[in-house]
Amino acid sequence: MRKPIIAGNWKMNKTPDEAMALIGELKPLVADAKAEVVVCPPYACLAAAAQALAGSNIGLGAQNMDYHDSGAYTGEVSADMLKALGVEYVIIGHSERRQYYAETDATVNLKVKKALATGLVPILCVGEMLEEREQGITAEIVRMQTKLALLDVSAADVAKVVIAYEPVWAIGTGKTATSDDANDTIKTIRQAVRELYGDKAEEVRIQYGGSMNPKNVGELMAMSDIDGGLIGGASLKAEDFSKVVNY
Ligand code: PEP
Repeated sequence: MRKPIIAGNWKMNKTPDEAMALIGELKPLVADAKAEVVVCPPYACLAAAAQALAGSNIGLGAQNMDYHDSGAYTGEVSADMLKALGVEYVIIGHSERRQYYAETDATVNLKVKKALATGLVPILCVGEMLEEREQGITAEIVRMQTKLALLDVSAADVAKVVIAYEPVWAIGTGKTATSDDANDTIKTIRQAVRELYGDKAEEVRIQYGGSMNPKNVGELMAMSDIDGGLIGGASLKAEDFSKVVNY
């Protein structure tokens, strides 16, 4: 059985003080969650968040990282630096990184491998753009993104990877994929993993992300292959996020 995992992607929101206040509100609300709970604040809040989360059931994630060990990469943050701050998860290949920061399937793959080698859980984002959906190539896109991201990832490591299926047109728009559509595409992603790793694919958790909120979480989480959610907007308010977590 796959344990559901619900992660909040705060994007570029919250100062360290605001992060600590939000975590302080959230902790009692999710203390009895059945799901694995993760918050991913911006880099600047990670140290404060680690302190605020100590002793709680909420894990700490980052929103990105570099794949080099160290060196002349101005503005970047390494996997070792995240690990040293107490980070356990890292979002990789979010569509905003792919769209605005020229993240490619090749850099996503390097980051997934570096995260695994450092003992971080990669939350690998895949998903089609609106034009791709309209062209009827959603399955091809997510299959390709998934397989390229997992290139040279060992069978021993693949079950540690969390995949987030995030249709780009549903992120921050209030539009959600129907639960059947989301489940079908997640099955397509699992099949791509199965083609590479056989039955290990059954252990890989695949989240849905894209305007998931307290109203639609129940229906989405009731689907056979949806193992959790990656939550943007609704993760910025403790009450909303806790309702998603306690779906
Ligand atoms: C996201 O950024 O990963 C996301 C799913 O955002 P939202 O929930 O706001 O659509």
